[in-house]
Amino acid sequence: MKRAVLLGVLMVVGTIGMAAKQATAPAQGTAPPPPPLTTEKIRDNLFVIKGGGAGNTAVFVTAQGVVLVDTKLPGWGQRIMDQVRSVTDKPVTTIINTHTHADHTGSNEFFPASVEVVAQENTKTNMEKMDAFKGEKAQFLPDKTYKDKLTLNSGIDRIDLYYFGAGHTNGDSIVVFPTLRVAHAGDLFPRKATPLIDVNNGGSGVAYPETLKKAVSDITGVDEVITGHDLVLPWSALAEYGEFNLAFLDATKVALEAGKSVEDAVAQFQMPDKFKDYGMNGLKDNVPKIYAELKK
Ligand SMILES: [Zn+2]
Repeated sequence: MKRAVLLGVLMVVGTIGMAAKQATAPAQGTAPPPPPLTTEKIRDNLFVIKGGGAGNTAVFVTAQGVVLVDTKLPGWGQRIMDQVRSVTDKPVTTIINTHTHADHTGSNEFFPASVEVVAQENTKTNMEKMDAFKGEKAQFLPDKTYKDKLTLNSGIDRIDLYYFGAGHTNGDSIVVFPTLRVAHAGDLFPRKATPLIDVNNGGSGVAYPETLKKAVSDITGVDEVITGHDLVLPWSALAEYGEFNLAFLDATKVALEAGKSVEDAVAQFQMPDKFKDYGMNGLKDNVPKIYAELKK
């Protein structure tokens, strides 16, 4: 709801901006095209498609076909396919959605209904609430779901999906390619910064550190992690991200116990020095969300 309202505001602002531009500038033709997607090779058969103002899409080329992890925003399907075609001629057979958000599920609808869509069961429930998956478009919802762990394929093509509890939403998968020793963490680890905690989709700032801790202790044999929106990082960065979120939770608890208002807690917020390179843009959003959870 909040996102829809924000989008509405942005569109209004955008319209005003465009009108102003048209009034003052000579006609320049159509709007500039969106920036092109880029594809980064991670392994011989694993690639990451970045860009589009959306989540990182992993491309895993198996014997049977291509497995995509996340499909960016609506309308980006052809551009995703153009990137896939730059590395393989095989058909897309499977889509894994790490979680419900439109910048990770938006172009599911571009792919044939025969493509198997896989997600954690709570994510399917969350997707069913989205207008983008109602009516005719329900055919692009996950076909296969799981609760805690699911293995797809076997041998060198094996993929393990894990769910460890609430965090960014209540249905975040970590997708592991065990032969390649690489994982895709989706928005459970979006970048080195405060996460979005989507409480409307079951996200939890209180559970977040514990969820990451479980992931770090249960998943073994991984060297690199594809973040939801940013770089591919060493696997150890996920453990550090868990520590970052625990420090954030602890600092929020201390502020609440000291009787601070949300405003004072935000203004006086202190994180350990080791996290000084982490983005803190979510501070103002996350403190009240965690306050509300702790008060329950
Ligand atoms: Zn997300």
